[in-house]
Amino acid sequence: MPVFPQYLTKDQEDELRNIANQIVAPGKGILAADESTGSIGKRFAPIGVENTEENRRRYRELLFTTDKSCAENISGVIMFHETFYQKTKDGTPFTKVLQDKGILPGIKVDKGVVPLAGTDNECTTQGLDGLSERCAQYKKDGAQFAKWRCVLKIQQYTPSYQAMVENANVLARYASICQQNGLVPIVEPEVLPDGDHDLETAQKATEQVLAFTYKALADHHVFLEGTLLKPNMVTAGMSCTTKYAPQDNARATVLALSRTVPPAVAGVTFLSGGQSEEDATVNLNCINNDPGRRPWALTFSFGRALQASVLKVWQGKDNNVAAAQKELLSRAKANGLAAVGKYSGGADSAAGGQSLFVAQHAY
Ligand code: 13P
Repeated sequence: MPVFPQYLTKDQEDELRNIANQIVAPGKGILAADESTGSIGKRFAPIGVENTEENRRRYRELLFTTDKSCAENISGVIMFHETFYQKTKDGTPFTKVLQDKGILPGIKVDKGVVPLAGTDNECTTQGLDGLSERCAQYKKDGAQFAKWRCVLKIQQYTPSYQAMVENANVLARYASICQQNGLVPIVEPEVLPDGDHDLETAQKATEQVLAFTYKALADHHVFLEGTLLKPNMVTAGMSCTTKYAPQDNARATVLALSRTVPPAVAGVTFLSGGQSEEDATVNLNCINNDPGRRPWALTFSFGRALQASVLKVWQGKDNNVAAAQKELLSRAKANGLAAVGKYSGGADSAAGGQSLFVAQHAY
């Protein structure tokens, strides 16, 4: 009898490793289009688009029917449950539209952030009940990877031990359940940028959170080669008065990751976390030029930083679809270059320098 029972078969491991490696192939990353119904409403409000099922469908159709050259830089798309089962106007399932371009469909499987009692306004993420059955169905319906987002906050005495243990454990349980169902788990412990803390504080908090996360993944026997990490980039708090160069952010980010993320992990796909489109791309580019140790692919899984210009140009109008799709192509290309450290700046876009920060961001 082996000391540890078999967790995954060799074939299961190979499948997961291949999916993960495909997502983080050089110059490729993820479009996070998994805004919940409430969150997409917040994106639609400033452009005067009503948050109806049909408008959500029209918007995602715009994204997913962008010219197939977008697949040179976008390897996967994360969707919300409703979107995952929607179709284009002419009846083609979105999952098929993506697959036909060589883009892997992904699914957000968490059920949102809830308060963690006994803490200073910290939280955990729910959704483990029935998760295995849901994952099995999503896999049958074409999903190859999943996402679950946890949120940690920097305040005077947080992130607390309680919040770090709880969130790490729930991420590990989620990851284990995904892998048993053939989905590559994207493990997302986001340290929010809210606050006036400096870069060093953000780095320390991110290191702590990641250390707790990988201890829990080890405890749950998660197969690291078949996982992706989706962390925040290390940046000072949004209200910090000290200004840091992108090279400073890159150094802090690479240091934090190198101290805590095992080299076996397939890749790191950063969230954009309210940075402007251009800041997110420039920081990613600097991260990929940092002299520190970085044995993994370091790429993007941006929501706001891939969609702000698209939304701004679209304005809900069919006439603007082609121009909006051009914005997506241009940001995808810029981020694809940044993912290999070759972005030289200045990609033209409608919302390039505009801050996309939302306080206490829920997704
Ligand atoms: P942002 O890039 O907008 O931070 O979102 C990415 C994401 O998927 C957060 O869960």
